[in-house]
Amino acid sequence: TFKALLASKDGDTLSTTIVDLTEADLMDGNVTVAVDYSNVNYKDGMAVTGRAPVIQTFPLVPGIDLAGTVEASSHPNFKVGDRVVANGWGLSQTHHGGYAQKARLNGDWLIKLSESLSTKDAMAIGTAGYTAMLSVLALEHGGITPDKGDILVTGANGGVGSIAIALLSGLGYRVIASTGRLEETAYLRELGAAEIIDRNTLSEPGAPVAAERWAGAIDSVGSHTLANVLAQAKYRGVVTSCGLAQGRDLPATVLPFILRNITLAGIDSVNAPNAVRLEAWARLARDLDLAKLARTTTVIGLSQVPDVAESILGGRVQGRTVVDVNL
Ligand code: NAP
Repeated sequence: TFKALLASKDGDTLSTTIVDLTEADLMDGNVTVAVDYSNVNYKDGMAVTGRAPVIQTFPLVPGIDLAGTVEASSHPNFKVGDRVVANGWGLSQTHHGGYAQKARLNGDWLIKLSESLSTKDAMAIGTAGYTAMLSVLALEHGGITPDKGDILVTGANGGVGSIAIALLSGLGYRVIASTGRLEETAYLRELGAAEIIDRNTLSEPGAPVAAERWAGAIDSVGSHTLANVLAQAKYRGVVTSCGLAQGRDLPATVLPFILRNITLAGIDSVNAPNAVRLEAWARLARDLDLAKLARTTTVIGLSQVPDVAESILGGRVQGRTVVDVNL
């Protein structure tokens, strides 16, 4: 048997318990993975608390990310002993996810881990870090280089935000961090933020275009914040949108697009094609300072996941939470 956190539903009430499962409980797939680590992303918070309908079939093991070692494989790309990582796809939606000591899944969802990253590093990065990298790639694709000007990162203390700051500063960008936790200035500066602003200055309705402040931005907050970020982007700036921590609405006008030639780039990590994932993971292995990554990371066991799920929705989690499924 192996341990798992299982989510069940009774009427409208979602509950989670730690259970012993057997291989017979695993779902279909051509690769079996001995899981070392998973993690807690904002989406895991929504899934585990039931705050949003992430899990589509019950009972299900949540956890949108996992990393471990291949135990059995009939997939041509993977053999026993390979170290692998999976982000998104059906995990925690229709297929058992990472909060278990074992997983069986479609090998097409797996990526081989670079030599330079441990399975723990991979889960410290996880969906949030890989989304931060997808966002950096989108800025680069839009022609944003460090000489073009500052880059704003919203939700700076969060998972996407923390890793975006570390990546951008490592690549030579001057980073402005927007946060509601100004008391965490030292943490944000250690990650590489050059300037810290209060998120309240961006979270209320503002002018459709205003003074030009940043050449690019990575936004995980949405709503009025994203509207103001667009309004204050420099001519031909690029803004990426991956999240909705403030809200899913976008109360903006087209003026930043038609007057300032701003590009708004959408970021999806869940169904990103494999070529894009491979590029993002290769760049993470190359560009992310692992000492900075370690500074953002807290390790917990399976039993603490429900508490952290509540905290992450409350905006009280800093950086990345790794789940050691064998703890
Ligand atoms: P997280 O660790 O909870 O980070 C979110 C951060 O946003 C918080 O730490 C907080 O930072 C800030 N925040 C929270 N509530 C806010 C509010 N009401 N107004 C303004 N700022 C607020 O979550 P995450 O895992 O990094 O994910 C961030 C967002 O990106 C989530 O919405 C998530 O669903 C989304 N996401 C999307 C994808 C995708 O594929 N599109 C992938 C990953 C994540 P401060 O305390 O510093 O202000």
